[in-house]
Amino acid sequence: MARHPLRFSLPVALGLLAACGGSSTEPAVPGGIVLSTASLSFSTVGATQQLSATVTDQAGATIASPKVAWSSSNGAVATVSGTGLVTSKGSGSAVVTATAGAVSATAQVSVTQAPASIQPVAGDQQSANIGQAVATPLTVQVEDASGQPVNGVTVDFAVAADQGTLAASSAVTGADGRATSGFTPLGSGDITVTATVDGTSISTSFTETGVSPFTIELMFLTAPTAAQRQAFVAAQQRWQGLIVGDLPSVQLSAAAGQCGTGSPAINRTVDDLLILVTLEAIDGAGGVLGSAGPCFIRNGSRLPVLGIMKFDVADLDVLENQNLLKTVILHEMGHVLGYGTIWTDLSLLADPSQQNGTDPHFTGAQALAAFNQVGGSSYSGAKVPVEDTGGEGTADAHWRESVFGDELMTGFVDPGVDPLSRVSIASMADLGYTVNLQGADDYTLSPALRATARGPRIHLEKDRLSLPLHVVDETGHVVRVVAP
Ligand SMILES: [Zn+2]
Repeated sequence: MARHPLRFSLPVALGLLAACGGSSTEPAVPGGIVLSTASLSFSTVGATQQLSATVTDQAGATIASPKVAWSSSNGAVATVSGTGLVTSKGSGSAVVTATAGAVSATAQVSVTQAPASIQPVAGDQQSANIGQAVATPLTVQVEDASGQPVNGVTVDFAVAADQGTLAASSAVTGADGRATSGFTPLGSGDITVTATVDGTSISTSFTETGVSPFTIELMFLTAPTAAQRQAFVAAQQRWQGLIVGDLPSVQLSAAAGQCGTGSPAINRTVDDLLILVTLEAIDGAGGVLGSAGPCFIRNGSRLPVLGIMKFDVADLDVLENQNLLKTVILHEMGHVLGYGTIWTDLSLLADPSQQNGTDPHFTGAQALAAFNQVGGSSYSGAKVPVEDTGGEGTADAHWRESVFGDELMTGFVDPGVDPLSRVSIASMADLGYTVNLQGADDYTLSPALRATARGPRIHLEKDRLSLPLHVVDETGHVVRVVAP
């Protein structure tokens, strides 16, 4: 009997409770909302940060497990999940809003993608002939610390001026984080192209290879040191980058001694020039440093097939210490190629001083044009002026030092940089080579500049080697011998 009143009075009791709530325990309604932070910043995309909202009721008490809706003003910059997890999507600004009932709060979101790395994605390790663009443009991708591509970043591309040209020295990354530049090699051998995120030290590099159809082969008759070999190879690659036209191969047959005392017999096909190199004790440091020249030349074009470079090892050590080894080898290799050594044979030398001339000069039209271009148009003497001092081997075989100063192909090496000018390269075109004038070093005839930069010079005494010139046809048959 005692249970019945309870059973029937329960709905009545519930009704009483509801009626009483209207005055002392009304339902919690969001009256305030505060976020865990008012601003978020990201330096990468794809990163997350958690926002949380504290919701209070009309009495200021915290509501446990409030119902909060989350939204972002710009989904391209940041998105937000139903639990307040913010994910960065791209550089820019957005506002994340949390709403509970009639109240809301916002947080500013800023995404500034910081470049963290750069790497090649296309175009690395290509080969192209000198003067011809590589097939695939060089492309890098810039990424942030999360490995996501960074849009709108400037990338600077760079290469040594005598080694290549870039279609764009800088480019801006697209949405894929990629920036691109075309590239044309001007040097032979491996060429390094760097790509750097502008204003940072974040960089990478490409290795491209310039290929010259003109091949110089070195045959060391005595073993060079590693440093010497490196200098010879550097000079070989430089000339291959400057002379870029193939010559007919020659089936060479040279007897021992025909390319100077002690030269070996050579029986082989040469494409395009074979240079014998001997490093020997000549007269100790100072005096004669070395000499170089051709000994076999092609019938018709007269361009060398075989030549020799001889150096005094005592002088090579001195040059290496002065950081002039490559400079001098580059100069001497020019003589083997014909600079100053086949001028007379090609009737390109006028008024030679060794035959009582008073103003020796080189008469090739291309060298003359280049001479005028580098500042020689107002020069009043006969052009292009050739050395009239220094004795046999220096005079009549080099540019005139008093006019050309520190240019590489004078008979004197100057400390510091000895530029290989477009005049020298154009003179090789006058000999009959196909040349790459863009590979020239910067150079102007500037007496004022030269006058201030003088230190002790090294006279390349008797460095033009005058050997009998064996004129051969393509089968190697010696047509005639021109006395030195
Ligand atoms: Zn010389």
